[in-house]
Amino acid sequence: MARYIGAVCRLCRREDMKLFLKGERCYTDKCAHTRRPYPPGQHGQGRIKLTEYAVRLREKQKLRRVYGILERQFRQYYFDATRRKGRTGEEMLGLLESRLDNVCYRMGFAATRTEGRQLVKHGHILVNGKQVDIPSYLLRDGDKVEVREKSRKIAFIAASLAQIDRRPMPSWLEIDKEKFSGVYKGMSVRDELNEPPIREQYVVEYYSR
Ligand code: SF4
Repeated sequence: MARYIGAVCRLCRREDMKLFLKGERCYTDKCAHTRRPYPPGQHGQGRIKLTEYAVRLREKQKLRRVYGILERQFRQYYFDATRRKGRTGEEMLGLLESRLDNVCYRMGFAATRTEGRQLVKHGHILVNGKQVDIPSYLLRDGDKVEVREKSRKIAFIAASLAQIDRRPMPSWLEIDKEKFSGVYKGMSVRDELNEPPIREQYVVEYYSR
C-alpha cells in the first residue's frame, strides 16, 4: 500500500496542531508548528473563515494524517466501521488503533507510526510468535506483539523505548519493556485518545454527507 512521503511538518502546520509525526523533534523548540504556527504556503498567514464542510474535511485530514494512511484505505475504515455494531466514529478509531504499525508506536518500539510501519515491513515484529510484515494488520484482543530476538539490538528501538514515558499510554496496552513485548487488549476507553484531540463525529459526517 502506498504511503505519504512528503514533508510532514507542513501537515501539522496545515492542521494547526502538533500531530507528533517526527518523534523526538516534536518535543523540542525545533518543532515547525511551534516556530511557525500558521498554515504553510504563500497565503498561510491570511485569514480564512472555514465553512462547515471545511471544518469536517480538516478533521478527516487530521485523523488520516495522524495514522499516516492514504485516502482510499482510510475511507475503507469508515465503511468497515459502519458495518459494526457500535458508534461509527469510535469503531473507526478502534480499527485504526488496532493496526500493527500503530501498536508498535504506542508500545514504544518506534518513535513515530512511520517508523513503526518500517519496523513491521522489515520483519522485525512478531505477533503471537509469528513474523508479520503487514503494517495494516489488525490485531485482535489478547494478541502478543514483540520485537524479534535478533532485532532487539537495533539502536533506535532502545532509544524509542527509553522515551516512552513522554507519551500517554492507553490502558488497553500492556507493555514489558525488558522483554520488548506487549499485549494488545482492544481499544476500550475512547477518552484516552486525546493527543492530538480528535472529533471523530466530524469525520463520520464528512463521509456520510
Ligand atoms: Fe514537525 Fe513534530 Fe512539530 Fe509536527 S509536531 S511540526 S511533525 S516537529
